[in-house]
Amino acid sequence: MCGIFAYNGKQNAIPLLVEGLRNLEYRGYDSAGVLWINKEGNIFLEKAVWKVSNLARQVDDKKDSNTYHNGIAHTRWATHGKVTVENTHPHFSNNNRFFVVHNGIIENYLWIKRELQKKYEFYSDTDTEVIAKLIEELFDGDIKSTLDKVIQKLVGAYAIAVIDTENPDTLVGAKLGSPMIIGESNEGIFLSSDINALGQIATQFTTLDDHETVVIQNGKFEVFANGDSVNKRMEVMDETHEIADKWDFPTFTQKEIYEIPDVLKNCLNGRVNFEEKMIHNETLQELDEYDIESIEIIASGSSYFAGVVWKSWFESLSWIKTEVRVSSEFLYETFLPNKKTLYIFMSQSWETADVREWIKMVQQKWCLTFGIVNVVGSTIARMCDMGLYTYSGVEIGVASTKNIVNQLAVLLIMALHMGASRDLQINEIKKIISDLEKIPNWLRVLTEQKESIHALAKKYAQYKNFFFLGRNVVQGTAAECSLKLKELSYLHAECYATGELKHGPLALVGPEFPCIVINPAEIQNEKTVSNVKEIKARDGVVLGVLTEWDEHKEIYDDVIELPKTHPTLSPFLPLIPLWMMSVEIATLLWKDIDKPQNLAKSVTVE
Ligand code: GLU
Repeated sequence: MCGIFAYNGKQNAIPLLVEGLRNLEYRGYDSAGVLWINKEGNIFLEKAVWKVSNLARQVDDKKDSNTYHNGIAHTRWATHGKVTVENTHPHFSNNNRFFVVHNGIIENYLWIKRELQKKYEFYSDTDTEVIAKLIEELFDGDIKSTLDKVIQKLVGAYAIAVIDTENPDTLVGAKLGSPMIIGESNEGIFLSSDINALGQIATQFTTLDDHETVVIQNGKFEVFANGDSVNKRMEVMDETHEIADKWDFPTFTQKEIYEIPDVLKNCLNGRVNFEEKMIHNETLQELDEYDIESIEIIASGSSYFAGVVWKSWFESLSWIKTEVRVSSEFLYETFLPNKKTLYIFMSQSWETADVREWIKMVQQKWCLTFGIVNVVGSTIARMCDMGLYTYSGVEIGVASTKNIVNQLAVLLIMALHMGASRDLQINEIKKIISDLEKIPNWLRVLTEQKESIHALAKKYAQYKNFFFLGRNVVQGTAAECSLKLKELSYLHAECYATGELKHGPLALVGPEFPCIVINPAEIQNEKTVSNVKEIKARDGVVLGVLTEWDEHKEIYDDVIELPKTHPTLSPFLPLIPLWMMSVEIATLLWKDIDKPQNLAKSVTVE
């Protein structure tokens, strides 16, 4: 929602940066600011709340005759502190030497701020200001090596661009989680949160990766990782880059499914230490200070089903009683507040109205609220006492995909962290984290199985009704995939716990009513095999979603095979092939994949 734009080169940076901010406006923001610097070290700092046009007017009024060749600009979507000029970026150090723009959230800012307050005066409520003060505190004579030291102290997500006014030719940047693109033209180098803001002005671009830093000097740039220079591959800028680009995919939903491995890595980075196989997160450490005896998750749609998965995770990993509630229902049911319950609110969009109402109701009873949302600064994020972002990037497809995977990742991190402070064995945590590290690559492999999924879709698109079945930890996955088929293809799909089939639904099963059975290894696999035999005895058609080398493979009519993983992680893997199959079926039936009929991305009314 927020954006960074920066330039270093031969051209006059004033119009370039103002135009850059205008191109970032579509992302949403509530204030904007710029710092320019010329070769003599003169600076021009301007900030304005609300529109970029306000800023542009102020800049026009105050503009002097200087030509500035270097600068950083920002559109802010407030997360820490109100929309005021003081809180607007760029932020600066006490000695007025270092200027910083930042996207994202520094989760441990309070801890850093408390330390720095012993020595430095703070003027804003933002988390960002601690970065400027830290640079001053840790400055070693070189802005690049200082930035390396600073980012080691930061927890959370960030894209940062910094100017040291004593080195007016230089601009440095770094990122973790939040995007940062480096654009190049004959006239200089740009940094932008968004490739679309570079479409008209850069000829080539590359993406700064997590844990990389960039140094831009006199219109040239160099990228570093772990202290070494990195040779970045430049791509030619395609003028057709739109606000949100589908790349080569026919729909945003397909592109977003393809993006899942990368956005999942973004979500895990900085929160899971894969080397030590530990969870490290300040928000969760803060949560440890509360005496939590039970948990309620309040969500709707796909987020609700992520909550269903979590219930199994949480109860098995951390032995905390967990309930999942459909937000629209419980607003009107009797609410029995409990100060020892943690109320978790999840939304795949950003403004889900009924979830908002629930937060108000819980807070009126002085109970603890925790938000899990994607959109930084969204209403739910602002209302909750605490929370974690899913960091899945812009999701345009109405049917949520990449954000659901990241919701699951955040929930798993919470379950492991809270389990660790209870009875969950450290060895078990290490085993799970060790496999979790492999999940993005396995998901990537699954996204590549287009042909076999297409063949299955051709067969299953002929049916009108489906059962999705799963047990235990994959029951929520089955429910989510059933919802996805329904919303994308408008076919009728229902989900049951596999063992529930013979208590009623089996009456419908037959050659015209296929069952999609998620049956990974070590999740009561044998019991599900018996259920599949019951379906087959009634001439039912069964598509099995199984772990590779499953010895009962031949009882299914068709199979989708998944890599073998720790059973706790089983909910992740079936999502990709089953979502892809739903997209393929919907395409064969000529449905609008990105905008299913009657549905909206952000449900802002109750
Ligand atoms: N967390 C920072 C702030 O509230 C940056 C927000 C943004 O990404 O715009 O100022």
